[in-house]
Amino acid sequence: LEINLRPMVIGGEDFAGILIVLHDITAVRRLERMRSEFVANVSHELKTPVASVKGFAETLLAGALKDEETAKSFLQIIYDESERLNRLIGDILDLSKIESKRVPLQLSPVHLNSFMDHTLQMLAPEAQKKNIELKLQVEEDLYMEADEDRLRQIMINLLSNGISYTPDGGKVSVTVQAMNVVNGEDPENIRFVIADTGIGIPRKDLPRIFERFYRVDKARSRSSGGTGLGLSIVKHLVELHKGHISVESEVGAGSRFIIELPVLH
Ligand code: ADP
Repeated sequence: LEINLRPMVIGGEDFAGILIVLHDITAVRRLERMRSEFVANVSHELKTPVASVKGFAETLLAGALKDEETAKSFLQIIYDESERLNRLIGDILDLSKIESKRVPLQLSPVHLNSFMDHTLQMLAPEAQKKNIELKLQVEEDLYMEADEDRLRQIMINLLSNGISYTPDGGKVSVTVQAMNVVNGEDPENIRFVIADTGIGIPRKDLPRIFERFYRVDKARSRSSGGTGLGLSIVKHLVELHKGHISVESEVGAGSRFIIELPVLH
């Protein structure tokens, strides 16, 4: 808030009161601050993997190359960190495109049963590695209008989070359901629930997990190859589809992400 005080002069009287002018500049300032925070965060996030690649390459050059075992493990780290850097750059570019609304949605009818089958198949290898059961329940013959690639991006992000943040032997499930069906007509909304039996999210972190780069546990996100941008991207994509996302979670029991999307645009 910017406040201007001016003495008022009326009809020769020297002092008739004070004029107070209030300008709300918070919105502008907040935008400016968010932008510069984003740049600072991005630089920090990019620097970490680069420093790691540089450090391990230096150690190899300084002689660690001679020991084949050590050299292999260092090269693996360099490879993994480059991959993470790649994902990070991809996510940053994608997010900035989505945020500035430069992504026109390519809408088409999506048959949700085959769409979800296909999406889960893509994640099966990741789940198998951790012996996690992937379960799908879709109401028969559901269709909606959506950007199929973006809808897949939403589901993959949420499902792979579910797999990452669930210990071995756990369960990740998706249910897809029609909402607001009136007189046997087409439903107005589709509800997707992506649930896991994982580590859960502390109550105090819940309101912030959709923020860019916000992680409950930095080390854990890093070791699972996360970029900290997945959920921000998901939220923006859901909103581009005029939908809504929410989350419920209990530490040690699991998390549930609930998405509602309109069937037609
Ligand atoms: P990341 O790349 O770190 O996974 P996301 O934006 O996808 O970034 O998620 C942000 C944070 O929210 C994660 O670091 C993690 O702490 C938390 N989180 C997201 N999904 C889950 C989940 N299914 N179970 C527990 N924690 C989760």
